[in-house]
Amino acid sequence: MSNTANREPGYVSLRSVSKVFDDVRAVDDLDLDIESGEFFSMLGPSGSGKTTVLRMIAGFETVTTGTISIDGDNITELAPFDRTVNTVFQDYALFPHMTIQENVEYGLRTRKVPKPERARQASEAIDRVKLSHVADRLPHQLSGGQRQRIALARALVLTPKVLLLDEPLGALDKQLREEMQVELKSIQREAGITFVFVTHDQEEAMRMSDRIAVFNAGRIEQLGTPHDVYEKPATAFVAGFLGVSNLLDGEKAMALVGRSDLVNIRPERIRLHGAGHKPAKDYSSVEGQVVEVAYTGANTITIIENPAGIRIISTQLNEELPGHKDSFVVGDKVVATWRNDHVATIPQ
Ligand code: ATP
Repeated sequence: MSNTANREPGYVSLRSVSKVFDDVRAVDDLDLDIESGEFFSMLGPSGSGKTTVLRMIAGFETVTTGTISIDGDNITELAPFDRTVNTVFQDYALFPHMTIQENVEYGLRTRKVPKPERARQASEAIDRVKLSHVADRLPHQLSGGQRQRIALARALVLTPKVLLLDEPLGALDKQLREEMQVELKSIQREAGITFVFVTHDQEEAMRMSDRIAVFNAGRIEQLGTPHDVYEKPATAFVAGFLGVSNLLDGEKAMALVGRSDLVNIRPERIRLHGAGHKPAKDYSSVEGQVVEVAYTGANTITIIENPAGIRIISTQLNEELPGHKDSFVVGDKVVATWRNDHVATIPQ
């Protein structure tokens, strides 16, 4: 990653970056390389430091120690407007008294782009987010999703190499949020811009990102593709933060998987069968009793327990339970099975 030759513009590097606020170490000695054109997400719980990292890349926050570079140029000391980055905030920050067209043109006006040219570029950016039909309206006449798209157009029109997005979909309801996730991803792909995206929503990060950095207490616990961080969590924190986990160690792990390491089996890997079921070759099993069943539309979540203190969560697609005739009810005695190669060992 240190080799900067022959790279497309739009890569971001952080070296030994820390940020201390009074007595809080918000970011702790971070090294990070974000590749040109990638959709990169910073994911983590509230207070884990991801927004502070984004704000340091934008230049809204100074670093306490360390260096930040874009395309190999050290930008650590540069003012925000001298950096080749733009930021899209959660609250959109549109000018309320300007039309959509004027809002999108604004940044070009401050760059002294002549009127006809900035009108053309703004129209193109508005078209890209599919909102040409509302270009003459004021922001309050648009829906939340439309305002979000305009905030994006306003950033894209300035053709940044890197776009920083701080929970941009946080204010939208679930359905709109999911639609915008798809749109945002396709706009990013078309524009070929590096996106650095902050979210605390693991599904959102998984759905959109090329790579995810999972933050905890000012540090990156794991950095990898959505598949890697989900299937091969590096720590118990990552396993727990990305989806539901069945974490086992010590005697319980020994009883179930034959070793006492910390292990994780994802609920969707666990199948439930009636009492007496014998596991097939390459599968393991444990007996238990159903203590909870929850129907969630697409899935049924079943929790089983046994007297040895084992508690297992299983999630099954309802499509695989035709007519629910195979779903279990509280009190049923069952056998949970899983494929041995679906047991992930978590390094300690
Ligand atoms: P959220 O999802 O809630 O935005 P986050 O992961 O983005 O959380 P940060 O906002 O980066 O976390 O905050 C990291 C830590 O730094 C927190 O403990 C926070 O209270 C602290 N912090 C952030 N900004 C400031 C500030 N301006 N002054 C003092 N402390 C701050």
